[in-house]
Amino acid sequence: MLDFLRDPAAFVPLASLIGLFVGSFLNVVIHRLPRMMEHDWHAQAAELRGEPPPQTERFNLAVPRSRCPHCGHLVTALENIPVISYVVLRGRCSHCGAPIGKRYPVVEVLTAALSGYAAWHFGFGIAALGALLFLWAMIALAFIDLDTQLLPDDLTLPLLWLGLALNLGATYASLGSAVIGAMTGYLALWTIYWLFRLATGKEGMGYGDFKLLAAIGAWLGWQMLPLTILLSSVVGAVVGISLIVFARHGRNVPIPFGPYLAAAGVIALFWGREITSRYLGAS
Ligand SMILES: [Zn+2]
Repeated sequence: MLDFLRDPAAFVPLASLIGLFVGSFLNVVIHRLPRMMEHDWHAQAAELRGEPPPQTERFNLAVPRSRCPHCGHLVTALENIPVISYVVLRGRCSHCGAPIGKRYPVVEVLTAALSGYAAWHFGFGIAALGALLFLWAMIALAFIDLDTQLLPDDLTLPLLWLGLALNLGATYASLGSAVIGAMTGYLALWTIYWLFRLATGKEGMGYGDFKLLAAIGAWLGWQMLPLTILLSSVVGAVVGISLIVFARHGRNVPIPFGPYLAAAGVIALFWGREITSRYLGAS
């Protein structure tokens, strides 16, 4: 079985297929994790006030089953096949015809494509399996931040520990680089945050961003941090300015930074070493 997986002709399609189904699950995570956090906050707030916890029905990643938000139609297993169901249903609820968000197939295809590429890039082994988890976490974080301006600790902190653990065996970076990467990743954005805040009186990002960069540093080592910060800031600035200029996005409406950090982290995972040695003069 392992020999079979060492052949890219088997491993790449298999990783893509798994990615397709994981992408479908990530859609659930992206949609429900922020609401689960909100439920927790309400329960904790009630406890602090000495009130009974608010009565809500059980709500987690597994229950209740997905429903059409318009008519409440329960999504059947056949209607839940990644991408295929969307195409067959022509992007509409089978019961009431309300449109299904394009986001769902987009996340599924993106997850499948990145998973297949990771399998091809790293070849079968611990580096590829770790890279899949890293990519899946980045996709979930990017879309959750886009929707809610939150980067849940439930994702960033386990990701950080997992990166350190994988680098016990120097999977992506030496353990020393990884530990320094986690520390400086947090401190770098924390410092920028306070300088920006002192200079402008505004908050440019949140603590979730610091934890996300700490996790990226733990996975890829401190050497990848300059590139990650540079890429995310440049792309973030270009997109942010275009949104304000072309889409009349309010100047004071917050634009989440997490999606850019996540995208830069993915680029650094695949091509960071090459880019750094070729353009930034380090090796
Ligand atoms: Zn419906």
